[in-house]
Amino acid sequence: MSHLDPEVAALLAMGEQPSADEQHHLDSCADCTAEVASFARAVAAGRATRTGEELLTPPDRVWESIRSELALPPEPSTAPESTPDEPASRPSEAPSTGARHVARRRRVSRRPVFFVMAGAAVAVVAIVAGVWMAGGIAPRPEIISEARLDGFPTWAGAQGEAMLERVDGHDRVVVDLTASVPDDGYREVWLLTSDASDLISLGVLDGSSGSFDIPDDVDLSRFTVVDISQEDVDGDPGHSGDSIVRGTLSAP
Ligand SMILES: [Zn+2]
Repeated sequence: MSHLDPEVAALLAMGEQPSADEQHHLDSCADCTAEVASFARAVAAGRATRTGEELLTPPDRVWESIRSELALPPEPSTAPESTPDEPASRPSEAPSTGARHVARRRRVSRRPVFFVMAGAAVAVVAIVAGVWMAGGIAPRPEIISEARLDGFPTWAGAQGEAMLERVDGHDRVVVDLTASVPDDGYREVWLLTSDASDLISLGVLDGSSGSFDIPDDVDLSRFTVVDISQEDVDGDPGHSGDSIVRGTLSAP
C-alpha cells in the first residue's frame, strides 16, 4: 500500500487500532511511523492539559508534517511555484523545456491530488484542534484535601487513598482501596465526623476505586474522615462496624 493517509495517521495517534494493512505498512515505513509519533506527541500534550498543565502550542513538526503531506512549500509567502492562473509559457520568462514539463505535469496530475490532500489535512487539523480544545475546556478538579487510609488490624495489609475534589462547584470523594476482600458482601464508602459520632454513606465501592459525589448540604468542615467498610447483604443500611480502612482528610 502507499503511505498512510494523514487522517489515518492522526486517528492511530489518538489510539485507534491499525488495520492489518496499516500495521504492516507501519512496520516497514519509518516515515509513517514518525508521522504517527509526531501526532501522538501533540495528542499527548493536548490530553495532558486535563490534568492541570498549561495549554501548549503544537510542536512545529506537526504543522511541518501536515505541510509536507500537502506538498506545500515551507513558507506560503515564498512559494516558488507559479500560480495556477499563470500562463505556462510567458514570453518574458522563456522557461526551459524542463521547467515547462514540470509545470504542465503539475497542472494535469498534481492539482487534483492537492485538493484531495487538502481535504484530508483539513480533517487532521480539525481532529488535532478538537483534541486540544477538549483538553482546554474540560473542567479541572481542584484538590481540596486528601487522606491516606490506614488498614484496621483485622484487615492485614489493607490500605487506601482518598481525595476530596471540587469540580464545577461540586465536591466529590475519589477513593482507591488496596485490600484482599471476600467474594461475599460488598464495600461501602462513608464520611464520618472526627469523633465518629455521625456518618454519611457515600455509596457502594465497586471494585478497587470509585468517585462519589457529595450532596451540597453536607458540612465538610464536620465530616473529615473517610472510611470504607465491609458490609453484609443483610438489608441493614447502617455501617456494619467492620471498617477496612480509615483516614482523615487534610490539605494536600
Ligand atoms: Zn509510509
